[in-house]
Amino acid sequence: MTTTSPTRVAFIGLGHMGGHMCRNVITAGFAVTAFDVDPDAVARSANDGARPADSVTDCVADAEILVTSLPGPAQVEAVLCGNGNGNANGGAIAAMAPGSLVVEMSTSSLEVGRAALAAARTHGCDFVDAPVAGQTIRAEAGTLDIYAGGSRKAFGRALPVLETMGDPTRILHLGPSGSGYAVKLLLNLMWFEHAVATAEALAVGVKAGVDLEKLHTALVHSPANSNFIERDVRMVLDRGDYDEGFAMKLVTKDLGLAVDLARDVGVPAEMAALVEQIHRRARAAYGDAAGEMSAIRLYEDLAHLTLRSPRSSPPGR
Ligand code: NAD
Repeated sequence: MTTTSPTRVAFIGLGHMGGHMCRNVITAGFAVTAFDVDPDAVARSANDGARPADSVTDCVADAEILVTSLPGPAQVEAVLCGNGNGNANGGAIAAMAPGSLVVEMSTSSLEVGRAALAAARTHGCDFVDAPVAGQTIRAEAGTLDIYAGGSRKAFGRALPVLETMGDPTRILHLGPSGSGYAVKLLLNLMWFEHAVATAEALAVGVKAGVDLEKLHTALVHSPANSNFIERDVRMVLDRGDYDEGFAMKLVTKDLGLAVDLARDVGVPAEMAALVEQIHRRARAAYGDAAGEMSAIRLYEDLAHLTLRSPRSSPPGR
C-alpha cells in the first residue's frame, strides 16, 4: 500500500487573520511551515503544529504552495519580491521551486499583484490573489469569504487549501489576476461608506429626539436597510465594541487603495475620497490600533452622545 505525503504549505503573516487561517490549514492535514517577523506569532503557530521558520527563504525552502496574509502592498512586495524591508534577499518567489504556487490573501494593490505575477512567471511559478472578508471570527471558524483572481488552473490548485480557510460556497473565482484584489477593495469601500452613512443617520436621529432602538428598527424595515445597519452596527449598540480585530491603520490603508484604484482606472470617486478622509480623521482621533467601527465613535463624540441600546453591556475586555 502506498501512502501519499501531505502537500507542503509555507504560511507567512501570522497576525489577527493569518494566525487563525494557518491553524485551519494545519488542522486539515497539510504539512505547514510558518514565518512572521513577530517571533511570538511564530511560536503560537508552532504550538498549533507548524514547523517554525526563521526567515522568508527558510519558510519557502521546500514548499509546494505559499500562502501570505500580510498588512498591505509594501509588505507583500517585500516578502514576495524582496526589496529589503527586513527581507534582505531576493524574496520568497525567487527561493521557491519552479512549478510551485503562491496564494496571496492580503488586501493589497493590483499594482503589487502584477509585480508578483511577473516575478512568479519568471521563476516558473503560479500566482493567485485571494483576499478575504469575514473578520477574525470567521478566520477562526474557517468560514471566510474568499475572492480569487488568476488562471483557472492556478485557482484549481489553490482550492484545496482555500477550502480549509473559507466557506466552500463563498470561495469565488472572479476572473484573471487582480480581480480578487479589485472586488475586495470595492466591497470594503462600500462597507465603510455604509458605516459613515449609518453613524450619521443614527447620531442625527437620536439628537432629533428619536429613541435609538425605534430609529434602528424603522431603518431596518425601510428601503434604507443594509447589512451594516441590520447586523454589523449592533456590536457597537449592544456592547460598545468597536472591533479591534481590524485596526484603523488597515482600514485607512484599504480605503486609500480603493481611491487609488478608482484613479488608476480613470473613474471619479468623490464619495470614496470623502469617506476615506472621515475614517482617517477617526484614526487620527483614536489611534492606529483603534477598532474598525471608530467612525461611529467619531459621530458619537461630534454629537455629544453615546449610541447604546438600553440593553447594552460593556465589551468583555
Ligand atoms: P495583522 O497586522 O494582525 O497581521 C499581519 C502580520 O504580518 C503580522 O503578524 C506582522 O508581524 C506580519 N508581517 C508584517 N510584515 C512582515 C514581513 N515583512 N514578513 C513576515 N511577516 C510580516 O493584520 P490582519 O488583521 O491579520 O490582516 C492581514 C490582512 O488581511 C491585511 O491585508 C488586512 O487588510 C486583511 N484583512 C483583515 C481582516 C480583519 O478583520 N483583521 C479582515 C479581512 C481582511
